[in-house]
Amino acid sequence: MEKKELLYEGKAKQIYATDDANVIIMHYKDDATAYNGIKKAQIRDKGELNNKITTIIYEYLAKNNIPTHYIKTLNEREELCKKVKIFPLEVIVRNYIAGSMSKRLDIPEGTKPENVIYELCYKNDALGDPLINDHHAVAVKACSYEDLKVIYDLTKRINELLIELFKGVGIILVDFKIEFGKTADGEIVLADEISPDTARLWDEKTHDKLDKDRFRRDLGHVTEAYQEIYKRLGRL
Ligand code: UDP
Repeated sequence: MEKKELLYEGKAKQIYATDDANVIIMHYKDDATAYNGIKKAQIRDKGELNNKITTIIYEYLAKNNIPTHYIKTLNEREELCKKVKIFPLEVIVRNYIAGSMSKRLDIPEGTKPENVIYELCYKNDALGDPLINDHHAVAVKACSYEDLKVIYDLTKRINELLIELFKGVGIILVDFKIEFGKTADGEIVLADEISPDTARLWDEKTHDKLDKDRFRRDLGHVTEAYQEIYKRLGRL
């Protein structure tokens, strides 16, 4: 597989074309941003760690019959993936209250609701990725109601599988963000990374934060936290 031109550069990753029109290379950078790009830095080894963590998670999800864009990991920073048309939606799942929901509704971080909370954000940098509902998503043509049904069914299953995976290594899956895309043959698949950049992961005993909140909130030992997640998942 030959690496060709840069198709897209995001905050934490680059997407390259390959000699196959239906396949791309996803390259993980060390760059980190928070608060809509206001806070920026490099986190040592983050790209490699997120690539390795995402690899473990995607292989586990694929084994459990979740359709994904992932094909294989090429090297320390790159994965080969199916080219998909990404829905301009962030699907957020909350098993515990934290972050923006804690602030917006004034609920203490770490509160466990009786239900799982699903949120949609419209991916639009100029608008700051606003929180929207299903009907907004259809109205702005981000997806159809049929697409949403598939997306929510997959998201529920992915959450159950990820809770189980992290529980097995002593970690509470507080919340996470995922994205979906449509392949050339019209299948809806999970896409993008799942890593400490996109999930809140707390040690089950100490409640230590092992995720990007260490960067957002200047808690220090950011790389060490990502290493700890990789080390624990690697034990499986
Ligand atoms: N998240 C993400 N990308 C975003 C926004 C959120 O990966 O652009 C993840 C975030 O890491 C957390 C979850 O989604 O695991 C819920 O984030 P929240 O809405 O609390 O936002 P934040 O606190 O990041 O503003």
